[in-house]
Amino acid sequence: MQIGDMEISEQAAIAPYAYTQAGGPADYLAQPKSIDQVKTLVAWAKEQQLPVHVFGRLSNLVVRDGGLRGLVIILSELNQVDRINDQVIRAQAGSDLIWVANLALRYHLSGLEWGAGIPGTVGGAVFMNAGAYGGQADMVVTGVIALMPDGQVQDFDQDQLDFAYRDSVFQHNQGVILSADFTLTPADPAQIQAQMDENNYLRASKQPLNLPSNGSVFKRPVGHFAGKLIMDTGLQGQQVGGVAISKKHAGFMVNVDHGTGNDYEDLIAQTQQAVKQAYGVQLSPEVRILGER
Ligand SMILES: Cc1cc2nc3c(=O)[nH]c(=O)nc-3n(C[C@H](O)[C@H](O)[C@H](O)COP(=O)(O)OP(=O)(O)OC[C@H]3O[C@@H](n4cnc5c(N)ncnc54)[C@H](O)[C@@H]3O)c2cc1C
Repeated sequence: MQIGDMEISEQAAIAPYAYTQAGGPADYLAQPKSIDQVKTLVAWAKEQQLPVHVFGRLSNLVVRDGGLRGLVIILSELNQVDRINDQVIRAQAGSDLIWVANLALRYHLSGLEWGAGIPGTVGGAVFMNAGAYGGQADMVVTGVIALMPDGQVQDFDQDQLDFAYRDSVFQHNQGVILSADFTLTPADPAQIQAQMDENNYLRASKQPLNLPSNGSVFKRPVGHFAGKLIMDTGLQGQQVGGVAISKKHAGFMVNVDHGTGNDYEDLIAQTQQAVKQAYGVQLSPEVRILGER
């Protein structure tokens, strides 16, 4: 189907785009290359009264087997990055965070070392307030441009982003993040590179990066580590359908044998129940679970 100058797929498989390699189909799927195309798509969906889902690299997502109603917009082709002054990089929402972190290194700018191993986009990192190894989006994201449900493009200053642990204003206002400004600090590139290398070494030594996953499935409960609670409950290796709790990192759920979105959801629920029973701690998912069963 054609909308404006874009080809839209119908009943489109989501699994090939998803980091978990799981998930039911989308009614409609589009991959815009420009902000004007994003605007056209959102206006079309509004006209048709269809829900809109905006994704980046689908690296923090469980889509249930029944798939997603409405329009899925995948932004990975909206990926221009500009250096707007000595210290500020403006990256469109679909840019890979790893790519932006490496550009920062090339410009001798520090502040994105934590992002050098996170496989999502800039939009996903802002939406989730992603972070690792002592760094987090809220430490360097100083402004965002977003398309709001009324069709207006709005500038958000840092104090309007309402960042909190794995949370931002965009989890509450249905805005489509179009770009983010990263304000960084000049530094010795050898030091930036060394920090990135150390982070990525730690990541590779602790995480099951050879298998499809969503990274850490649960948020860090206050006073605990989700992975340790899951390990101590004896759940490592537990499997539902084709999805298992990683034996390398208990906080990860890996797709070991054609696992589905429903397998992920069921294993998440089983894990929550078992940990609650053993330790009285309620784990809450960091991954976003969407779609119909
Ligand atoms: C191996 C592995 C390691 C990981 N390590 C980490 C880590 O160390 N730290 C960490 O924080 N996360 C980590 N993650 C999780 C994930 O990569 C991050 O949450 C990432 O920021 C998600 O980006 P994404 O583009 O894939 O978002 P998606 O999964 O595509 O989307 C996630 C959510 O953001 C919303 N969203 C995405 N883009 C936009 C946009 N432009 N506008 C509005 N909403 C949007 C979606 O609707 C969805 O609700 C890891 C994942 C994997 C697979």
